[in-house]
Formats: sequence, C-alpha cells, structure tokens
Amino acid sequence: MSEHSGASPSSTLRTPEALIKHGLAEPETLSGLQALAEQFSIAIPPAFAALLKPRSPENSDSACNADPIGLQVLPDARELVTAPHERADPIGDDALSPVPGVVHRYEDRALLKPLLVCPLYCRFCFRREHVGPDGGLLDEAALERAFTWFETHPKVTEVILTGGDPLMLSPRRLKRIIRRLSGIPHIQTLRLHSRVPLAMPERLTEELLDALETEKAFWLVIHANHASELTPEVRQALRRVQARAIPVLSQSVLLKGVNDTVESLESLLRALVQARVKPYYLHHLDAAPGTAHFHVPVEQGRSLLRQLRGRVTGLAWPTYVLDIPGGAGKVPIGPDYLLAEEQTPQPPSGTCKATDGEQFRKRRVQATDGQEHSFT
Ligand SMILES: *Cc1c(COP(=O)(O)O)cnc(C)c1O
Repeated sequence: MSEHSGASPSSTLRTPEALIKHGLAEPETLSGLQALAEQFSIAIPPAFAALLKPRSPENSDSACNADPIGLQVLPDARELVTAPHERADPIGDDALSPVPGVVHRYEDRALLKPLLVCPLYCRFCFRREHVGPDGGLLDEAALERAFTWFETHPKVTEVILTGGDPLMLSPRRLKRIIRRLSGIPHIQTLRLHSRVPLAMPERLTEELLDALETEKAFWLVIHANHASELTPEVRQALRRVQARAIPVLSQSVLLKGVNDTVESLESLLRALVQARVKPYYLHHLDAAPGTAHFHVPVEQGRSLLRQLRGRVTGLAWPTYVLDIPGGAGKVPIGPDYLLAEEQTPQPPSGTCKATDGEQFRKRRVQATDGQEHSFT
C-alpha cells in the first residue's frame, strides 16, 4: 500500500500534484497528467475520494482499471487518444441552441444550462470539452435572454436544468432561477439533473433545498454508475430531498469496467430502488473524444438487460437509450421480447413455473437475435 493511501482528502482534488500527493497517481506520470489536465478538468470531491481503492504495488499500473470509482474520475492517458468515430459534439447539441444556455430538441421540453461547473469531472462525459471550474456561468443578461426564450415558446412545458451541475449554484442564484421559471404560466414541470447528491451530499443543506421550492412539478434526476456511490451519507441526503415531495430518478451510463457485468448492474439498480430512486435511463456511451476505453458494444448492453429482465424487480428496469449522433435524439435500444415472425412474446429469466409450483431460475430463452442465452 502506498504511504499516502490512508489519508482521505478534506477538499476536492483538482490537480495532478494533488493526486500524486494523495497517492492516486505515480510521480513519474506528472508531466503526462499536466498535459491532460490542460484539456480536461479534474475534480474529485472528498465523498468520491473516500471510495477510491488504495493503490498497491501489485496493481500500481492498473490500479484505476480495477476500481469502478477510480475509472470514472481519475485522469487517464488514454483520454488523449481520439478514435476516428468520436466527435466533440457527439449528440449534436450545439446546432440546437437558440440562445446561449438553452438547447431545444423536442417540442415540449428544453434544456437550460446555467453553468458548466461540476462537483466532479467524469472522464467519459460527452460535454467534457466544455465543462470546467471556470466555465459557462450565464450572467444576468444571458439568463434573462434564456427566460425570455422560454416565455415566448408556449409549447415548451418542461425546463430541464442541467449543465454543468445546477446544484453547484449558490442557493440564492438557484432560487432566483427556479422562481423565475415557475412564474411562466405554460411551464408545468421543472427537472434538474445533478451529480451533487452523490458527489457532495453535504451540499444538500436545508438552504439549498429551500431554493428548490416551487408550486410546479419538480423532479430530480441523479447520475449514479456504481452501487458503492450510494453511501449512507448519500442516502440520507436523498431522504432530505424526498422529504420535500421531490421524486428522484436516476440515469447511468453503461461503462466498461464500471457497470458492464450483470452483477454490477444488478447491484447498482437494486441500490437505487432501495434508496427510493427509480432508474430512468441507462445510456449507451456517447462518442466524445478520448472515451473509447469506456465503450461497451450495444449487443452487450442488450444482453445485460435481457439477463436482468425478470431477475430484478420491474421497478429497477431502466430504458436503455442511445443518443443518435448528429442531433436526432434519444432512442430506446433495449432487448426485444417479441419475435417479429411469430409475434410471440418471449419469457424473461427469473420466472417461476406455475403448474407444479416448482421454482426454476435457469432457463433458455431464444432471443430475437437468434442467439440462445442461458440464465442462472
Ligand atoms: C436528453 C434530452 C432531453 C430530455 O429527454 P427525456 O427523454 O425527456 O429525458 C431534452 N432535451 C435534450 C436536448 C436532451 O438531450
């Protein structure tokens, strides 16, 4: 074990030097990490730093490879390699921005990105070239233009606050934004996407939660990728949110080495349901530059979900979605259970035989791709 590994940092780690000081990177890698840090921001808050596996001499080369938390937040030289199919704006948001900070792709809803700061910087983020600690705060004039855009688009009934991470705003600023949007008659729903409840649960103070008060429907969508992110502190913070009658959903990204096995995905989904959080989306990875090492093939994603159907409660079932490159939007790409030729629904795994009461968990299901899958 490294001599530093025991000490958990008390503030967010933001530099290669800080990572080395805390035993999270080797001193020899400093210059490489500095080059990387110039392109993609680093931030590992204490709650995530505490979850990192300590490095050890046996796995020093691949320490972060073995760690589903480390993989998500520790910079990696592979991020500087751009695969041929990767693009800076993989889902085509830029072309759909009528005014700065607003993205409008669907008729009834639009994104508002009041800032581009995050509590941590995910190494696989599709906005990773835009987000950062000093980026993208909409000033008063820009916010006013965004509000005016919403006021003049009556078909838009839902505002999705995202970024960056809107819960990194001060309670005062957040309250002003929520008040202002709530005052627009045709806005019915406010939705906020955030990693703060997992990355900085201590930030969810009563003051910050007061800022979320509105007469309109308010939904929170958290972003969790591994069961270990749902610590007792995180679950308590979620309870404080839920106590305010705010429903909480989650989205996850399917990531190689993080949640690409049946076991890891099942634990994540179960941990969410136990925290009263409804899994909403499982995202297929967007092809942002330098993220190829996280790629899981679509067929593997479909197979994972197929294996979970029936095996875990329906409450835990997320919609597996792909954001079509170029701006066409999200589409469900999960497994099919209806064989096209016969229109016969296929049974899921984990079902019980009703006739003789005998329980069986192992069965073979002929999937629509013609392959036979055996489940235990
Ligand atoms: C993902 C996304 C939404 C929200 O889509 P839902 O399917 O309602 O969650 C809205 N606008 C844009 C531009 C998006 O990328």
